Amino acid sequence: MTAGESCRACGKPLKPGGSGLNRFYPFCSELCSLRDLGKWVEGDYRIPGPPLPPPPPQGEDEEA
Ligand SMILES: [Zn+2]
Repeated sequence: MTAGESCRACGKPLKPGGSGLNRFYPFCSELCSLRDLGKWVEGDYRIPGPPLPPPPPQGEDEEA
């Protein structure tokens, strides 16, 4: 059971019944889905780049 889901845009609880009945899932309405899309367009969301590679191992002080 997936209770407690909320709209990604406004935070209102989504209508119960499953995402199959909500064509705007994960939003509560078309307005919110458009609002979220607008965020992308405005650049509020940033697509994370690829993870940085780990730093090269530095020479540890080894006892000669
Ligand atoms: Zn909403």
